[in-house]
Amino acid sequence: MTVLELRDVHKDYPGDPPVRSVRGVSLSVEPGEMIAVIGASGSGKSTLLHLMAALDRPTSGSVRLDGHRVEHLSDLRLAALRAWRVGVVFQQFFLLEALTALENVASGLLYRGVPARLRREAAREALNRVGLAHRVHHRVTKLSGGERQRVAIARAVVGRPAIVFADEPTGNLDSANGAEVLAILHELNRAGTTFVIVTHEERVAAACHRRVELRDGTVVS
Ligand code: ADP
Ligand code: MG
Repeated sequence: MTVLELRDVHKDYPGDPPVRSVRGVSLSVEPGEMIAVIGASGSGKSTLLHLMAALDRPTSGSVRLDGHRVEHLSDLRLAALRAWRVGVVFQQFFLLEALTALENVASGLLYRGVPARLRREAAREALNRVGLAHRVHHRVTKLSGGERQRVAIARAVVGRPAIVFADEPTGNLDSANGAEVLAILHELNRAGTTFVIVTHEERVAAACHRRVELRDGTVVS
């Protein structure tokens, strides 16, 4: 079954004139794939990622995520779909700095009503999967950039979502830390996680199975 399918998706931002950020994108993602979305700055990559991850709704067109038509869901059902079936990783990590690695990852299950003890167990296991078993009780401010992004990745995968989106996951990292993060993404993909990765780095795109190139909000290849 296709995990994500976009048909003729458009996104306009209001303005004078309106910004036509995504213009008629169609694509589908199968379970187990690792796809790169590439394109110049301003080509619509982040907008498209928000639409694919159901963080935003299209102006027109259809987004089917894990079997659900995003444009037909209420806000509440959309929030539930995101909480249960989608993981997201951002360039800036967005970790809670006052918390430990374990607490940050456990927070990825907060909206599911999972008891605290089970949240911690799952978080520990997810940190193992990203190679951070030895850092669970460290405050995230004590970690390197690459380790922080691995914590963010663990938070994204802790609930075993159907698909994980990453927006420039190595964009804030030096090349050694970036390589480390890329290796983790690859390993999680080999173990079955489906990824869509927005990037302008050639080596990240080269590590993916397939690339979708955007120009001015349209898929050009
Ligand atoms: P990329 O991630 O490829 O750099 P974006 O999706 O961020 O591209 O932006 C695509 C276009 O949409 C740009 O012209 C940008 O200025 C515009 N845009 C993005 N977000 C907004 C917004 N919230 N309001 C208005 N315009 C936006
Ligand atoms: Mg962007």
